[in-house]
Amino acid sequence: MTRPTEAQINLGAVVENYRLAQSIYPDGQCLAVVKANAYGHGAIAVAKALDAIAPAFGVACMEEADELRSAGIEAPILLLEGLNNTEELLLAAEKNYWVIVDSLQQLTILISSDIPKPMQVWVKIDTGMHRLGLPLNEVANTVDQLNRSSNVQDNIVLMTHLACADEPDNTLNSLQLERFSSVAKDFELNSSIANSAALMALPASRGNWNRAGYMLYGSSPLSSLSSSKNDYAAKLKTVMTLKSEIIALRDVVKGDSVGYGGNWVADRNSRIATIAIGYGDGYPRGAQNGTPVLVNGQRARLAGRVSMDMITVDVTDITGVKIGDEAVLWGNDLTINEVAQCAGTIGYELMTRMPSRTRRVYES
Ligand SMILES: *Cc1c(COP(=O)(O)O)cnc(C)c1O
Repeated sequence: MTRPTEAQINLGAVVENYRLAQSIYPDGQCLAVVKANAYGHGAIAVAKALDAIAPAFGVACMEEADELRSAGIEAPILLLEGLNNTEELLLAAEKNYWVIVDSLQQLTILISSDIPKPMQVWVKIDTGMHRLGLPLNEVANTVDQLNRSSNVQDNIVLMTHLACADEPDNTLNSLQLERFSSVAKDFELNSSIANSAALMALPASRGNWNRAGYMLYGSSPLSSLSSSKNDYAAKLKTVMTLKSEIIALRDVVKGDSVGYGGNWVADRNSRIATIAIGYGDGYPRGAQNGTPVLVNGQRARLAGRVSMDMITVDVTDITGVKIGDEAVLWGNDLTINEVAQCAGTIGYELMTRMPSRTRRVYES
């Protein structure tokens, strides 16, 4: 029997979400971030869907950029984590990848290598995330050296990354924005600050280049409170529907336990549906008893620990449930963000951990 577990991916919705991202700040351009296999959705399929409208893509590393080039994507690709060595720089120059300089070591590699033509360079500034980026006091000297290098195009972009954009009211946002402009004001360069959350909820962060990732995949990157107040969040179109089927049904009596560890105990006589999806298919093992699952479009509750290949769900209150009926784990009427919260994680993690066993079925 074919495994009924699949992730339906609506590429038309990706395109609509991209257009929404671009429309938020039409004066700037929107980089489509497709790292981590396009957040689990399939990098090639997503990049092809956006190829005609996105001016550039963003990935984490060379391997991810190469995958897109091999598939015929010709747009520039920004390597978000910078370069590790001269070999990578030469390949990047050849393949029209854009590079980020986020340390003096990378600056040295870039200006001292012999490359065939000048490259587009982004300079990353550490304004408070303290993960990657140049300290504020090294930016002027770095830009100066880049300007003087024949390896560098003259359209340098200054960038930074915000630590708390999902909480627009967090004071670290304004502090990071102030630090960024205190440095950027000395240059007439393009800037790039916003990820999806900042683009949606922090107007002061919008710039020449905005870097949209999570929102392209149809879920709000904002905290649930901020999300409920955000006009753009309401306009995002769901991209992924994770679904499977009921493969067994049984009745248990009050006091019976269900699943590994027996940690769900029936407090009434109950009907339990077994669904062919588990943590081996990308459903989070951390999902707690009570996590919602849609059975025939109605909310049922997870009952018992998530197994590798199956989950068990209490369907006592849903009438007419049969073997073969559809179960939706997340999608339009049950967001991945809600399920992630029940599992102590975020939708980003659930998307990117989707394994290859789960068939992707594309709709345009
Ligand atoms: C991943 C990433 C993004 C996209 O972030 P989202 O929250 O998914 O929009 C933007 N910028 C950088 C530097 C990133 O690494």
